Amino acid sequence: MTSRLSGRTALITGAASGLGAAIATRFASEGAQVIVSDLDQAKAQTHANTIGDAAIALELDVTCPKSWERAVTAASDRFGKLDILVNNAGICIPGSVEDLSLEDWHRTHSVDLDSVFLGVKAFLPLMVRTSTAHGGAILNISSISGIVAAGNMAAYNSAKAAVRHLTKSIALHCAKMRYGITCNSLHPTFIDTPLLDEFTAGRTREETLGKLARQIPVGRVGIPDDVAWAAVYLCSPEAIFITGAELAIDGGLSAM
Ligand code: NAD
Repeated sequence: MTSRLSGRTALITGAASGLGAAIATRFASEGAQVIVSDLDQAKAQTHANTIGDAAIALELDVTCPKSWERAVTAASDRFGKLDILVNNAGICIPGSVEDLSLEDWHRTHSVDLDSVFLGVKAFLPLMVRTSTAHGGAILNISSISGIVAAGNMAAYNSAKAAVRHLTKSIALHCAKMRYGITCNSLHPTFIDTPLLDEFTAGRTREETLGKLARQIPVGRVGIPDDVAWAAVYLCSPEAIFITGAELAIDGGLSAM
């Protein structure tokens, strides 16, 4: 264990699985106290248990303002502060503009985009009052799909592109207010998590990973730690002068 996040308290959404779970684990191993929040309370508790004393679990539906209010109360009661907010929870419903239902369009934007607005709105006052002298950090998990579009990802492209730009707006607001809080976005390509189940289309998981890997210049899909290490950096004091930035974690995909 090292201590790049020592003394910091972090809340990660969607942290029972995939990228959020890896980020929570890495943050704890770097000395942070972490709130493992998820819609799925039982899975969040299981993951918090694997992390140990540095973690608590919290039920949080990122689409629900009341649920965010309860999360602020829980963080305040338990730790008295919040230094880091990672807006990670997300869903991907593939479909072209012709295929997608309006319901799926709204659902995607609610979980992937409204969540960031609601989370920052709910937690910013506590973060401003309490984040450490080294500053606070907001990190939004967008996607390479927020930069590069695909015909069969209409809602996901739209929501993730909006997260990218909302991130910059939040960053500029916090800078202008001299809050000492950064806001950045991460843009992963395909990472091996349950979210990729949406892309199997009758293939085995190995076949799916192989097919996706052929689209990536370095020749493999990512692993959750590829994203978690970037999250550690952008939420650490080392990155205090980086705000409004976007970081592609894509094995060279967006360089083509
Ligand atoms: P995942 O499906 O493994 O985990 C997502 C988690 O979010 C789950 O635990 C789920 O319960 C939770 N969740 C869903 N709806 C929620 C809600 N309303 N409130 C709270 N929690 C909710 O997916 P993942 O791959 O770990 O994805 C995490 C983030 O990374 C998402 O925003 C996703 O869009 C983004 N992303 C993933 C990939 C990838 O290839 N895996 C690539 C780029 C971006």
